[in-house]
Amino acid sequence: MAVHKVMVIGAGQMGSGIAQVAAASGLQVIMNDINPLFVKKGLNTIMRNVSRDVENGRRSPEEMNEIVSRIALSTDLSDAKEADFVIEAVIENMQAKTDVFKELDEKCPPHAILASNTSSLSITELAAATKRPDKVIGMHFMNPVPVMKLIEVIRGIATSDETYAVIGELSKQMGKIPVEVKDFPGFVSNRVLMPMINEAIYCVYEGVAAPKAVDEIMKLGMNHPMGPLTLADFIGLDTCLYIMEVLHDGFGDSKYRPCPLLRKYVKAGWLGRKSGRGFYIYE
Ligand code: NAD
Repeated sequence: MAVHKVMVIGAGQMGSGIAQVAAASGLQVIMNDINPLFVKKGLNTIMRNVSRDVENGRRSPEEMNEIVSRIALSTDLSDAKEADFVIEAVIENMQAKTDVFKELDEKCPPHAILASNTSSLSITELAAATKRPDKVIGMHFMNPVPVMKLIEVIRGIATSDETYAVIGELSKQMGKIPVEVKDFPGFVSNRVLMPMINEAIYCVYEGVAAPKAVDEIMKLGMNHPMGPLTLADFIGLDTCLYIMEVLHDGFGDSKYRPCPLLRKYVKAGWLGRKSGRGFYIYE
């Protein structure tokens, strides 16, 4: 099956990045969010990114205009009737995602593949909310999407070989490298990454070291390009908390308990870079 038209649900940091790389790879894109302001914000992020590419000589101004002209904006899930492929990138919450999947299943053409950019939630469970579980798959892009090469491709229990093959090709068309994993909480990337971030937060919570010191230690001592708390602010502390809860519930193992300080920051609305404050303060 050939994919020509892509719809992206959620125009936040991940959704706008996915829309950008899909449009840059020549696909027609519909970028959707619940509110026109959020869609506009997503488009502004894309324009900023591609303008920077033009300034740095990585793209021509004509290419920039072509990319932007391939992106249509939407606040109505009915627009999915034209899509061959839909990728959902709304908040990391099972209820929110299953609501979207149920509606997409009704509105999309029968051949359309439905993917989720979830960081941790069960693809099998999302697929069960639809009447096309063979055409549901996880496509976990990394942040920032235009820069990071990996896509963790997650096969639900009913994902067909054909769906997997189409998504493998699509990932490559978008300039990415797909790596296959099975459907278990947090997959591989976040099962390994998030407990490290959570432990870094425990170091701050227990007064072992200040955020800057924790980050310096991991950068200078382990050669990480970015400290875990800077990374947590970048990912979004709400997303980090959701993922720790999915690991904790999914495995029933106390080693995944979210740090109380992480909960407190999320309750305060300190979500990291996107809200202006997390472990650090952003202008
Ligand atoms: P975000 O908060 O930046 O964006 C989420 C967007 O979804 C918001 O604009 C919101 O308005 C929109 N939205 C919410 N409900 C919606 C609905 N019903 N229909 C349409 N739009 C809706 O979040 P994000 O960081 O882009 O994360 C999105 C998804 O990507 C999550 O599942 C997250 O786990 C996953 N993810 C995040 C990262 C990361 O580093 N942030 C990395 C990989 C995957």
